[in-house]
Amino acid sequence: MDPIEDIEDYVARNRARHEQELARWVGMPSVSATGEGMPEAAEHAKGLLAASGLAPRLVETGGWPLVVGHAPGPEGSPHVVIYGHYDVQPAGPLEQWNSPPFEAAIRDGRIYGRGTGDNKGQHFAQLLAVRALRASEEGLPCSVTVLLDGEEEIGSPHLAATLAEMRAELDADVAVFSDGPVHDSYEPTVSLGVRGAVSFEITVRGADTALHSGNWGNVAANPAWELVWLLSTMRASDGRILVEGCDVATTLTAAERAALDALPVALQELLAGVGLDRMDACGDAGVNERLALPTFTINSLTCLDNQEHRSVIPSVAIARCDMRLACGQRTATVVDAVRKHVADRLPHAEVAFKAMMEPSRTLPDAPYAQAVLDAVSAMADKPALFVPAMGGSLPIAGITDGLGLPCYGIPLANVDERNHAPNENFELARFHAGIVTAAAVLRRIGGAA
Ligand SMILES: [Zn+2]
Repeated sequence: MDPIEDIEDYVARNRARHEQELARWVGMPSVSATGEGMPEAAEHAKGLLAASGLAPRLVETGGWPLVVGHAPGPEGSPHVVIYGHYDVQPAGPLEQWNSPPFEAAIRDGRIYGRGTGDNKGQHFAQLLAVRALRASEEGLPCSVTVLLDGEEEIGSPHLAATLAEMRAELDADVAVFSDGPVHDSYEPTVSLGVRGAVSFEITVRGADTALHSGNWGNVAANPAWELVWLLSTMRASDGRILVEGCDVATTLTAAERAALDALPVALQELLAGVGLDRMDACGDAGVNERLALPTFTINSLTCLDNQEHRSVIPSVAIARCDMRLACGQRTATVVDAVRKHVADRLPHAEVAFKAMMEPSRTLPDAPYAQAVLDAVSAMADKPALFVPAMGGSLPIAGITDGLGLPCYGIPLANVDERNHAPNENFELARFHAGIVTAAAVLRRIGGAA
């Protein structure tokens, strides 16, 4: 018998039930940014863990609780940590949704609703994999601890410290998570790391009020020009980051570089898909490498007192920015570097730091890397590829750096899952196949002990 046929049968038999349970989970708001539905969602998550045989509890963090569940595997088997998050982004502009964000709707083979892909559908597939394995003749092949974060969408401010306190019970061998869409090319992939992030706002204040640009031009300091000049000292026109200490060149290992080179790119299609005919300046780095390098992005430029076009010198100018951090960078170093750069050049500018996340790295030859890759390849029926660093950010440094575990991302969602946007969705075929893939990964890890 095919080593996973029993799980495929289980998933096929329980399709309707799994879809109903997912719809119910998506129908519960859990917006960490506003608190909407959070206590009820944490309780519901506990129930989902219990239904997979994972003894659940809530762990207080100082913010929204972490939902933790554990199920023991055979004596001496590896201990796997499964990370996911039960909070979701706010629903966003309601008029742009074709069905209410917190009422799951099934259309054209997809389930729609906030959190379908990010992350309820994906961690629920992992939970159902544990349920299916426990129901199988072989049983659960490894010990499993599930961690469902309640603060991922607000930057997981308490996760690393909470995990550090749980170090003894999280003395595991390997961690996995399913988040984000699959690779643009739809090639099967396993992610090995994520970039970190630091976001901040630079405010430059001028006069008490906006001033007539004829009566005051050349006389009154213009905060908008000062801000533009300051920004021009932070990043060169060729893309180099000029903030000293934020320009750490990431040294990729030969295996990481080979993995990057193996990832398919269709640059023209990629750009055309978003209405562009040119890339950002970033030296001669290829697309995949760019997604592994540090970035410095201006998110918005605003003059609060002149949103229309009046001939004035504005009184306040604001730049909202973020930097994505590559492995080797640290948020504290980047914060200090930005603060110093601004203070040295425009001392009256104010810098306020917001969300931060450390980068995380797992190398392609780390323990269980090949087992995870083999399982994903087997399920996709073609060789899976490693993605050395996902472009986005996730709080898994608390797992890799804090707990010292190799951590593998197995994205399940469709490329157009529209996470964080209206009409978020998850293809149901991917949800069901994801349960089988997640089970295959656990079986392979169990067998690789
Ligand atoms: Zn998200």
